[in-house]
Amino acid sequence: MSSAQVTFLFADGVGKTETAAPGELLSDVAERAGLHLLMDCREGKCGTCVAQLVSGAVEMDDYDPAVLPDSDRDDGAILTCVARACASSVVEFSYDSIEASADVAPPFTATVTACHQVAEEIWTLRVAVEAPLDFLPGQYVRLRPSPELPWRAYSMANAPGARALSFYVRIVPGGAFSSWLVERARPGDTIEVEGPFGAFFLRDEARPRLFVAGGSGLAPFLSMLKALGPAARAAPTTIFIGARSGDHLFAAEELRAATDTIPNLTIRRFVERAAPQDCETGYPTAGFASGPIEPGARVYVCGPPPMVEAARMAAESAGLNKQEMLFERFT
Ligand SMILES: Cc1cc2nc3c(=O)[nH]c(=O)nc-3n(C[C@H](O)[C@H](O)[C@H](O)COP(=O)(O)OP(=O)(O)OC[C@H]3O[C@@H](n4cnc5c(N)ncnc54)[C@H](O)[C@@H]3O)c2cc1C
Repeated sequence: MSSAQVTFLFADGVGKTETAAPGELLSDVAERAGLHLLMDCREGKCGTCVAQLVSGAVEMDDYDPAVLPDSDRDDGAILTCVARACASSVVEFSYDSIEASADVAPPFTATVTACHQVAEEIWTLRVAVEAPLDFLPGQYVRLRPSPELPWRAYSMANAPGARALSFYVRIVPGGAFSSWLVERARPGDTIEVEGPFGAFFLRDEARPRLFVAGGSGLAPFLSMLKALGPAARAAPTTIFIGARSGDHLFAAEELRAATDTIPNLTIRRFVERAAPQDCETGYPTAGFASGPIEPGARVYVCGPPPMVEAARMAAESAGLNKQEMLFERFT
């Protein structure tokens, strides 16, 4: 195959065309065109970079089918980070070109102020930054404790604009960041921060919203709850929280504070076994059967990919609009 022309088309009608070498990754082509596409894992595991192939053809490297079901792929959906150009193509994104033209700020340094276990498998990490960090509630940053360790993505649990960032990390045995956090991190350590990034953020709108959180996937919702403005607070907010057991639940104080300040907030907690008082037994998706499900609610789901997929199907079965759901997969 000779070189191909790839056109990246955005929701506001702006398009940009760039020449692609045979088999070149679309993400690399876009980068050469000066675009910063919304993209998180870069290995076909999170689904953030999903786009619609309007015309042409691509070949896809391996990816997680949980983030791009075959039915979506049959309808023309592709993952830009693993899609390779094999013909001149037009690829369409559901967001405006402005979101792909923002410059990425260089990494900066933060200082660890706290790091300790808060629940079974869950640790908190707090860092201080020199200048307040502005971000959209629900977004994440990449963290790197030292140059020999890999960058990892973590969602802020604090409200935007603060000099203290807080994170909740599920400890993965043998994981690079997890091992650093448990075995080596100490207050006073420095850590590199890059971002903020991500399209999973609270939409500023006075309509009902339903949050579904699995494990440490609760983190971005804590930020959203803290940032809900007065108009948004007036609309009902429901959150289904899932955890393995009562000992895995965390952020009780933050959720209590949210209940005090957000009049229309309903919180339901689900655990897989041995439910303590004020928790139910089962997965958070069980909440869809018993509600409350407000008609027209925008659905936000965050957690491990299988839970995200289950919640997506449950939300669709409950009649909620698939096009308006937002997902963040912690891969
Ligand atoms: C947008 C986004 C936001 C996120 N936000 C959060 C958040 O707020 N909180 C949170 O807890 N997580 C979050 N995550 C997930 C997080 O980024 C990490 O993926 C997770 O914490 C694991 O990182 P790690 O370095 O500890 O493990 P990794 O080093 O990535 O290891 C993961 C697994 O692979 C295994 N493994 C590693 N290396 C090898 C090897 N060489 N051979 C075989 N197996 C290996 C490990 O044992 C472990 O089981 C987010 C992810 C994304 C994409």
